[in-house]
Amino acid sequence: MARVVVVGSINMDMVVATEAFPRLGETLFGTHFATWPGGKGANQAVAAARLGAEVTMIGCVGADAFGEQLKATLVREGIDTRWVSTGNAATGIASITLSGGDNAIVVVPGANHELAAADLDRAHEAFAQADIVLAQLEVPLDTVLHAARLARRLGKPFFLNPAPAVALPAELIALTTLLTPNEHELAAALQTAGEPWAEVLRRMPGRIAMTHGKEGAYTSREDGELVHEAGFEVEAVDTTGAGDTFNGALAAFWHLGAGQAMRRANAAGALSVTRAGAQGGMPTLAELEQFLKAQA
Ligand code: ADP
Repeated sequence: MARVVVVGSINMDMVVATEAFPRLGETLFGTHFATWPGGKGANQAVAAARLGAEVTMIGCVGADAFGEQLKATLVREGIDTRWVSTGNAATGIASITLSGGDNAIVVVPGANHELAAADLDRAHEAFAQADIVLAQLEVPLDTVLHAARLARRLGKPFFLNPAPAVALPAELIALTTLLTPNEHELAAALQTAGEPWAEVLRRMPGRIAMTHGKEGAYTSREDGELVHEAGFEVEAVDTTGAGDTFNGALAAFWHLGAGQAMRRANAAGALSVTRAGAQGGMPTLAELEQFLKAQA
């Protein structure tokens, strides 16, 4: 069983469905409201935990009802939340308005932006026991960099899902064992817009696993050969959380070797799009194994 430390965001997604988007200054009745636990950090932690990994979450929530609710959700998934700290700002939220197939989203990072180096240092014991440290970019970049330095000092692989897309400092790239962007995030992270992504992968052998929707994922071997790990054909219902499921699964299965881990991460990602919601769609280990058996 892999021990995974996730350094990242914890959000409440507040979803409003409405027949029309309100105009400026207008008030409308919506048709439906729901809250869904989210945040890339929490999502990836849940994905890894459902697939059997022993997961420790390092993040920051506010001293409010959402914070309590989100921590309780993580605990129910078997995730260690001892190192989730409480900040001064409100728990991070995403306000998502859905109408006629379009969406409008406002993200307020809140307490996520208070996650600091000292919070990671406090969790030193968790880092020391980890097999893999996994991070994304919804907490401060300095904190992510600190996580990467800690991982390096302790000799732990550091996986970075560079989402949302932003240019990465050279030191962070150098400290990252495996970068897991989609095509768009790859170009932003490494500032390689204009260069074919396959070339970028070849230049960094074994250091990038790039997701590509239903096609699956790509990486490169030490000799610079491009490797395509094919995706699985499924009926997509809701693709939110596919990338997060892929990342959590990749960390959970990394001990099986890159090829096996990517195959399983593709399968987990495919299963996640067959069901609604980010965390709602994430498969358990039993579901994943059944799916893979059915494919054989
Ligand atoms: P992101 O949402 O971060 O852009 P992707 O869309 O590349 O990420 O999806 C991540 C992974 O989820 C893919 O590599 C693939 O394994 C799986 N996946 C995503 N969409 C589908 C789909 N429509 N059918 C099958 N698998 C999918």
